[in-house]
Amino acid sequence: MDVVVVGSVNADLVVRVGRRPAPGETVMGSDLDTFPGGKGANQAVAAARLGADVALLARTGTDQYGARLVEGLAAEGVGVEHVMETEGASGVALITVDAEGDNSIIVSPGANARLTPADVTAAGDLVSGAAVVSLMLEIPLDTVTEAARAARRAVLNASPPRELPGELLALADPLVVNEHEAAFLLGAASADAVSEPAGMARALLALGPRSVVITLGADGAVVAEPPTAGPPGFVDAAAGAPDHAGVPEAAPGGVAAHGDGAPGRPEGAVVTVVPSPVVDVVDTTGAGDAFTGALAWRLALGDTLPEAAGFAAKVGAAAVRREGAQSSYPRGEEL
Ligand code: ADP
Repeated sequence: MDVVVVGSVNADLVVRVGRRPAPGETVMGSDLDTFPGGKGANQAVAAARLGADVALLARTGTDQYGARLVEGLAAEGVGVEHVMETEGASGVALITVDAEGDNSIIVSPGANARLTPADVTAAGDLVSGAAVVSLMLEIPLDTVTEAARAARRAVLNASPPRELPGELLALADPLVVNEHEAAFLLGAASADAVSEPAGMARALLALGPRSVVITLGADGAVVAEPPTAGPPGFVDAAAGAPDHAGVPEAAPGGVAAHGDGAPGRPEGAVVTVVPSPVVDVVDTTGAGDAFTGALAWRLALGDTLPEAAGFAAKVGAAAVRREGAQSSYPRGEEL
């Protein structure tokens, strides 16, 4: 397998409302729309549509959604032999969209909460043999950590934001976050308040992951890696404006992006800014999942992280041009 996703599968139940009800109030909404979702399933579909050989390790329920969700994934070309059925409810996201187009989302984890570390162990070679294992945080953290331990390479989309155990963070290669998730993870550690993306990426790298990608919506993404490609202590100091695509940018003064983090690593960080194509935005739902699934696939094929992020940014941009999450994901030939 190029990519094995260990993650969540949800039914997204969407109702449009003029305004949200106050506590104790009832409002009338639109007809209910039901879409396939869940960050794990979304990543897997994104990779499959691009042509990846991809399988999903997950749990769905015995309710009216479970079997339909699995059928839908299989129809997209995702390997579902390791999607197990769990007595009870499937994962469900209850989504209201108001007149301004703003979402409010409640995720009920259902069967996703019952995906255990033992499930990862039982899957054996499926996880340890994949070129890349792609992860997110809609399943139990100890399951995510077990999958990262077993993986040859773990891509971790730290979404929705949660505190991460140090061991899991240290296995992430890369840690993928949007700007809100980056700010959450940096928390108090960003006392020396970095607000521009390159600085945030360096600060995140100092927390211990092997590499970092921050997605920046219309502005694409920024990649931070330790400078292992050069001689010891080498930081590529090629002068480049931070917004100049593909130009490695030195840490300030060429040092100390890591400081006290990342023992045994050369100091500094190589930061690359990756642009996104300019597109007409229709719906940004699931763009981050499309980015992560595409990134995992390109890394599995042997791209460098900046190359893979450049490709993933094109996939993310294509995904915002159409309505929905999975339904918006491009096929390889469209790119
Ligand atoms: P999330 O969906 O997790 O909040 P982002 O909004 O950063 O993540 O989007 C992920 C990726 O999708 C971006 O890195 C970019 O490539 C693409 N993308 C998102 N919004 C836009 C946009 N308005 N224009 C072009 N590309 C976009």
